[in-house]
Amino acid sequence: MTDKTLEGRVALVTGASRGIGRAVALDLAAKGAHVIATARTQGGLEELDDAIREAGGQSTLVPLDLMQSDGIEKLAGIVKDRWSKLDILVANAGVLGTISPVAHVEAKVFDNVMAVNVTATWRIIRSVEPLLVKSDAGRALILSSAVAHSARAFWGPYAASKAAVETLARVWAAEMEKTPLRINSIDPGATRTAMRAQAMPGENPETLPHPSEVAEKLVPLCGPDCIETGKLFRVTENRFFDYRLPE
Ligand code: NDP
Repeated sequence: MTDKTLEGRVALVTGASRGIGRAVALDLAAKGAHVIATARTQGGLEELDDAIREAGGQSTLVPLDLMQSDGIEKLAGIVKDRWSKLDILVANAGVLGTISPVAHVEAKVFDNVMAVNVTATWRIIRSVEPLLVKSDAGRALILSSAVAHSARAFWGPYAASKAAVETLARVWAAEMEKTPLRINSIDPGATRTAMRAQAMPGENPETLPHPSEVAEKLVPLCGPDCIETGKLFRVTENRFFDYRLPE
């Protein structure tokens, strides 16, 4: 029997035009959620919409550059007007920047990584929190990376941005503890996407898990049954980690 555990749920997925975001959007829709899919590339979003419809699901496309001045606020306005609530947020959109020593990173690259990975995520949080708390079981997942913890050489801006956004997610989770909203970060592990190919051009992508394998582990965390909060879920280990130190 088809799993329709997310029937009636409204889900917002950023960075849904390709890679992990696309796979997550497809899987959420397959489980019955109405997916609001956003990214800049209209063609990628339209292909996603076709695939969702073919599988019997539903989506709404919102082409958007997260750097655009009031685009995120307008997106939240669309969700409010049409559904008055949001059940699931997957803050997935991200950029890598360049792989180079910290002291050699160009200022515009550093600023862009922080703007997309951190500032835009904060603006999404700020804009959709009132809608997520209207859900009986709001769930927010923020895409992070192992490099936020491993501090790998040459990954400076990206690693710092993921550490920042993960901390933001933990603080947000602490603030929302008394509401039904549950918030976690996700480390998908090395995955066969355009971003990974940019980071590791010499690597054979066929050796890496397909984004659908990440979606398979991530999507169950979007349902009311997942009550963890303020933690990091590592897909490769299929379990939650709590990185908070006691004060
Ligand atoms: P991709 O590069 O394949 O996809 C990134 C997505 O983000 C695209 O849909 C892109 O859409 C969107 N995006 C980028 N910039 C903007 C912007 N300014 N406005 C709107 N959308 C934007 O990356 P992955 O699928 O690999 O990564 C998804 C997430 O997972 C990221 O947060 C990444 O850091 C994280 N991650 C990935 C790993 C991997 O191995 N792949 C490992 C660890 C973490 P468009 O260009 O159409 O706007």
